[in-house]
Amino acid sequence: MAKDETYDIIVIGGGVTGAGVARDCALRGLRVLLLEQGDYNHGASGRNHGLMHSGARYAVTDPESARECVEENAILRRIASHCIEPTDGLFVTLSEDDLSYQQTFVKACHASGIKTEVLSPSLALLLEPSLNPQVQGAVRVPDASIDPFSLTLANIVDARLHGAVTLTHHTVTDLLVNNGRVEGVRAINCRTGESQEYHAPVTINAAGIWGASIVRHAGIDIQMFPAKGTMLIYSKRVNQMVLNRCRKPSNADILVPDGAVSVMGTTSDHIALDTIDALRVTDAEVRLLISEGERMVPSLSSTRLLRAFAGVRPLIASDNDPEGRSISRGIVCLDHASRDGMEGLITITGGKLITYRKMAELATDLACSKLGVEVGCTTATTPLPGSENGKSARTNYIASRKNTAANRHGSRSRQIPAEDTSDRTFVCECEHVSVGEVKYAIDQLHAIDLVDLLRRTRMGMGMCQGKNCSCRIANLMARLTGDTAQAQQDLNTLLDERWKGLKPIAWGQILRDTQLTVAIYQGLCGLDKAIAGRKEGQP
Ligand SMILES: Cc1cc2nc3c(=O)[nH]c(=O)nc-3n(C[C@H](O)[C@H](O)[C@H](O)COP(=O)(O)OP(=O)(O)OC[C@H]3O[C@@H](n4cnc5c(N)ncnc54)[C@H](O)[C@@H]3O)c2cc1C
Repeated sequence: MAKDETYDIIVIGGGVTGAGVARDCALRGLRVLLLEQGDYNHGASGRNHGLMHSGARYAVTDPESARECVEENAILRRIASHCIEPTDGLFVTLSEDDLSYQQTFVKACHASGIKTEVLSPSLALLLEPSLNPQVQGAVRVPDASIDPFSLTLANIVDARLHGAVTLTHHTVTDLLVNNGRVEGVRAINCRTGESQEYHAPVTINAAGIWGASIVRHAGIDIQMFPAKGTMLIYSKRVNQMVLNRCRKPSNADILVPDGAVSVMGTTSDHIALDTIDALRVTDAEVRLLISEGERMVPSLSSTRLLRAFAGVRPLIASDNDPEGRSISRGIVCLDHASRDGMEGLITITGGKLITYRKMAELATDLACSKLGVEVGCTTATTPLPGSENGKSARTNYIASRKNTAANRHGSRSRQIPAEDTSDRTFVCECEHVSVGEVKYAIDQLHAIDLVDLLRRTRMGMGMCQGKNCSCRIANLMARLTGDTAQAQQDLNTLLDERWKGLKPIAWGQILRDTQLTVAIYQGLCGLDKAIAGRKEGQP
C-alpha cells in the first residue's frame, strides 16, 4: 500500500459536479483531491443532450428547477462562453398537440423570469426551416447548446492550475469512518491495482447515481431514483435552434444541434440501481426516438444515424412516479452531520449539467463552514480557462463550418503545438484532430488512453466512428508513450466502446460500415489475434 496523503477536501466523482466542486475549493485556497473511477465525464456528464436549458422545459412542472436554470444559464454565458453555442430554442406545437398549452407555458415562463417570444408558424419556419411544415405555433426562448466535455475539462484544468490534485481511474472503495465522522477514503488505482488511503476532514460525494453506494460505506441510506434516458445522434446537423415540443416534458421531444450533428432525446425509464453499469439501448427506445423525431423534423427520416447512447439521471426519489418525470430536477445538498449524525461527509446531487456551478458553490460553502474557512465563492464571475476572451463556440463553428480545436479548447487552443507540419497533420479527419492536439491532450489534459483521448478531442466521434482514425491514433499514442502493447490493448477497448453505440442502430449503411471496420481491424490488422496472443503470454 502506498503512503497515505492528507488534504482539506476529498471530492468523489469527476463528472461536471465533482469538477466544479474541485475548482471552487481550489479557487478558495483549499487543498483538494478529486478521485474518479473512470475518466472525467464517465457518468451522466458525458451522456446527455448538451442542452443549456433556459429553464423553459421545467417552467410549468418544476418552477424551482426552472429558476435555477435561469440564473445559471446567464452565468455560464459569461464564464463558459467557449463551451456554448447560443442557438436559442423553439417550443413547437404540432398538429397532435394542444395549442392551448402554449398560454400555460408562456405564463409559467414569465413567472420564472424566462424571456419568451410567441411566433407565428410562418415565422417559426423561416427561422427553423427543418421544422414540420404543419407546425401550429412556436415560442422562442433562450435555450442553447453546450459541450459537456469541454465544460467539465475546463473546470478540471482550472482546479489543477489552482493546486488541486485530480486522479482518474481511481475508484473509492471505502470511507474511513472513526467515531461518527468520515476522515477520508480508501481508493484503488484501477490501472495498477494499488490501494491507498487519503485523509481529509471533509469528503464531498459527487458520485452522481453511484452516490448511494458511496454513503452506504458509512451506513447511510439515500433513496436514489435511477432514471435512464436514451438518445440518438444524427450524422448531420439538421436544425440550427434547439427544438422542444410545447407540452409537458415527455419522451422523445428534444432535438439539440451540437456542432456538426443533431442529438435527439430522450426517454425516461426507472431502472434497478444494480443495472447502472450495464446500460443497454433497446429497439423500442430507438424506434420511439426515430418516429417522434421525424414528426418534429421530417428530414430526419432521410438522415443517417451515427450512434445511440444512454445515461442515468442522478435523481433523488420522492414518490412512486414510475418514469421519474415528476421528480424535481432541483439541487439536493445533504449535510450528513445534521441528516444522519455523520460528520465530515456531504452529498451533492440532483440538478442538471447546467446547474453544476451552483451545486458546487452550495457544497463548497457547506464544506468551508465546517472547516471554518471564510473565503467567498468567485466561480460566478471568474471565466473558465478557454473562455477568457468571451468568444462563443458558435463564432468558431460558423467561421469554419466544422468542429475545430478552437471550438473544443477556446482560447487555450493556442497552446496546441502547430509549429511543424507533422503537428498540424490531422489524425482524425472527421473532427479535425491534429497530431498537435493529441500531444496537448496527453500533456495538458492528462489523457492516459485512447478513450480518454476521444473525450478530450472528439477523435473517433465523427462520421467514421473511428473506422479510419483509430489505428492511426493508436500508432501515434504508442510512439508518444513508448508503450505499444498498451496502445494495442487500448485500440481494442476503443473499438468495443464505439461498437456499443453502433449496435442498437446497426442496419443498412451502418451495418455495412461496421462490417468494414471488423474486416480492417480483425482481418487486415489481426487485432483480435494479437490481443488473444498476448493474453496467452506470447509477445
Ligand atoms: C439522458 C440524459 C439527458 C440529460 N440531458 C441534460 C441536458 O440536456 N442538460 C442538462 O443540463 N442536464 C442534462 N442531464 C442531466 C445531467 O447530465 C446530470 O445532471 C449531470 O451530468 C450530473 O453530473 P454529476 O457530476 O453530478 O454526475 P455524473 O456525471 O454521473 O458523475 C459522477 C461521477 O462519479 C464517478 N464515481 C462513481 N462512483 C465512484 C467511485 N466509487 N469512485 C470514484 N468515482 C466514482 C462516476 O464515474 C462519475 O464520473 C441529462 C441526463 C441524462 C441521463
